[in-house]
Amino acid sequence: MAAAEGPDSLRARSEGGLGGASRTPHVDVDAIAREAREAVAAASTAAALEAVRVKYLGRQGALTQLLRSLGTLSAEERPLVGAAANEAKRELEALLDQRLAVAQDAERTRARAAARPDLTLPGRRPPLGIVHPLKRVEDEIIEVFAGLGFSVVEGPEIETDYNNFEALNFPKDHPARDMQDTFFVPGELLLRTHTSPVQIRTMQAQRPPVRVIVPGRVYRRDIADASHSPVFHQVEGLAVDRDISMGDLKGTLELFARELFGPRSKIRFRPSFFPFTEPSAEVDVLCFLCVGDGCRLCKQSGWLEILGSGMVHPNVLRNVGYDPEEVTGWAFGMGVERIAMLRYGVDDLRLFFDNDLRFLRQFA
Ligand SMILES: [Zn+2]
Repeated sequence: MAAAEGPDSLRARSEGGLGGASRTPHVDVDAIAREAREAVAAASTAAALEAVRVKYLGRQGALTQLLRSLGTLSAEERPLVGAAANEAKRELEALLDQRLAVAQDAERTRARAAARPDLTLPGRRPPLGIVHPLKRVEDEIIEVFAGLGFSVVEGPEIETDYNNFEALNFPKDHPARDMQDTFFVPGELLLRTHTSPVQIRTMQAQRPPVRVIVPGRVYRRDIADASHSPVFHQVEGLAVDRDISMGDLKGTLELFARELFGPRSKIRFRPSFFPFTEPSAEVDVLCFLCVGDGCRLCKQSGWLEILGSGMVHPNVLRNVGYDPEEVTGWAFGMGVERIAMLRYGVDDLRLFFDNDLRFLRQFA
């Protein structure tokens, strides 16, 4: 329907034909083409344009029907109407394609705009977790010793009897090796009752000097109550070198206490016994609540028991192939829960494991 030709040039009427004039439909290609153009102009969506395509170019469409009925026209009319109808068809197809592309583009733009976040809206703040109080205390302990040049090592929670007891100089009949105190695992294994087997693993793997700090989870067959739990956490320290003395241990732990409990902190050693250290000592820290005057926290003693320690037993050094005549060492171990309870004034150990958010959020 080239505009230059004008509507009349495309008009083909059956009445001018010879013979069969009464059988041929009265067709006006121009009228159909004009109607189709108007329909395209009125269609603003891809779906509406598709409906126009079906209406004029579909199998039952007006132009398709017209082209199909060419055979009923006279020989004179046929080429005229046929050419006009084909031209109208091509133009309509081109127009539809062009409008469809525009409509689809506009629809895609609208869809993108609808999907784009509105940057002017206030943001939604994701809920932030906090570091668990036990982890926080463990991190603080590690930080003090890392600052002194200790490296952090970890070991498996399932251990051999050898690493957990025998190499650490526990006699065969030691009560800790009793069924009632230890969780045994099929295959002559057990859940480690302390982090000390990592001492054995570390010393077996390297020659002195050794300076390690060992955080980890440990297990005992205890019924959970305010001060017991079948699972809890320890941090263990070990230093082995030439000429290591009890004085080094005391100096290190004094510094540790000041870092963790404040500059006025003091410690005291009380003789004790552990199979893997000789001599052994319990270490108390001056009560940070009453500073020694006596209060509920320290049960009026002025002191808080925080860890066990001692010089590494020569048998332990021998068990890992070290020569106790050549090197000496000290070790200590502390319960993370115990320190967290003292630090935060928590009187029931179970609160750390219940993971009640009302409890945990207090440490934010
Ligand atoms: Zn006190």
